[in-house]
Amino acid sequence: MQTADVVILGGGIVGSSIAYHLTAAGCRNVVVLERESAQGKGSTGKSMGGVRAQFSTPVIIQMSLYAIPFYASFEERLGYPCDYRPQGYLFCATNDRHMAYLRANYEKQVAMGLKNVRLVEGDEIRAMFPLLRGDDIVGGSFCSTDGFVDPTSAMNGFIAWARDHGATVRKSVTVTGLGRDAQGISTVETSAGSISTRKAVNCAGAWARSVAAMAGVDLPVEPLRRMLVPSEPFDQFPHTAPMIVDMSNGFHFRPESRGFLLAWNDPEETLGFKTDFDPAFVEKILTRAADRVPCFADLPVNPKRAWAGLYEMTPDHHPILGEAPEVPGFFLANGFSGHGVMHAPATGKILSDLILTGKTDLIDATLLDLARFAEGRLIHETAVL
Ligand SMILES: Cc1cc2nc3c(=O)[nH]c(=O)nc-3n(C[C@H](O)[C@H](O)[C@H](O)COP(=O)(O)OP(=O)(O)OC[C@H]3O[C@@H](n4cnc5c(N)ncnc54)[C@H](O)[C@@H]3O)c2cc1C
Repeated sequence: MQTADVVILGGGIVGSSIAYHLTAAGCRNVVVLERESAQGKGSTGKSMGGVRAQFSTPVIIQMSLYAIPFYASFEERLGYPCDYRPQGYLFCATNDRHMAYLRANYEKQVAMGLKNVRLVEGDEIRAMFPLLRGDDIVGGSFCSTDGFVDPTSAMNGFIAWARDHGATVRKSVTVTGLGRDAQGISTVETSAGSISTRKAVNCAGAWARSVAAMAGVDLPVEPLRRMLVPSEPFDQFPHTAPMIVDMSNGFHFRPESRGFLLAWNDPEETLGFKTDFDPAFVEKILTRAADRVPCFADLPVNPKRAWAGLYEMTPDHHPILGEAPEVPGFFLANGFSGHGVMHAPATGKILSDLILTGKTDLIDATLLDLARFAEGRLIHETAVL
């Protein structure tokens, strides 16, 4: 039987970052299991790649404060690119309630050490982007070190570094069960045989609930479809633009390749493993796009290039990190609720710390543990895009 110090269940960006951080910390016998024939076929390959520190809860801001410099120095550290583009995130408020929310967040972010965030007046936004319809914009917030990465490149970089330093990746291998004895996790059962280990990490993304159930753990992670629409080449709006977020309805967009990538979270979407793209979404999103950016009325879109993927939602929109309360050796890195790419670096560090030393300095890990749901310690984050 194969043995491993740590087995990682799922080879998306989160599993890959944990493999990297474990290996970088000196753990040599790390095995990553991925049921697909290639990594990135889960949510990672469907992501918009946005990275930001403009959040409202301190624990998430802390995770971003680790992530952004990490992505900025990714190539230097790992020797592989992640295509970090610090073009910023610009939140545009159209009412005083949203502006007050941005101001309160700004104060928290600055207090926690975020340097490049600032509040902006409506007039400044209108001057920065005269092509936005700005008549109802009362102000906003902008952080120049927020931006985008290429999620697949980042995932590939993490895993390549980990492999270069001793980790093993086994593709087309499905986790089918988790063995337990009196000490906790004892084996990982797979479609290709058993692996003896005392430590297994659930990195199964939107499928994490079923993997947790294999260890007898009830994990409140639910799949929720999200759709993205890329445009064809379009040069009537600047390609240096940040991610621009219309807070009146949640529509947001960023430059991508020679065009733009459009996103909007349909409030009518329901939970479930739906990964088909709904063609009716194109008109819904283009209506919102043209409303905020009048020249987007001419934006060329080929619906065949649009796609759908899954967010992994938790009841409080915060990830679930750390060892499962009743199963020693079973670790969770799940439920990123739409932010798993930007929070993969911190998650890798936190999980590596918890697995190897039982503690971490990066955050107060009890805030994100699974027990918070049973104990009524949920966190509320409303800045979910
Ligand atoms: C449309 C869209 C836009 C997004 N935009 C952003 C964004 O702008 N910024 C951001 O930070 N995040 C964004 N996200 C969220 C982000 O993509 C995810 O949170 C992140 O990719 C989760 O990574 P993961 O490794 O946990 O999961 P995944 O990438 O889904 O990887 C999980 C892996 O586990 C494997 N697996 C599952 N079950 C088993 C099993 N039994 N055995 C073996 N392998 C198994 C799967 O095949 C999969 O490869 C977006 C998501 C979507 C869908």
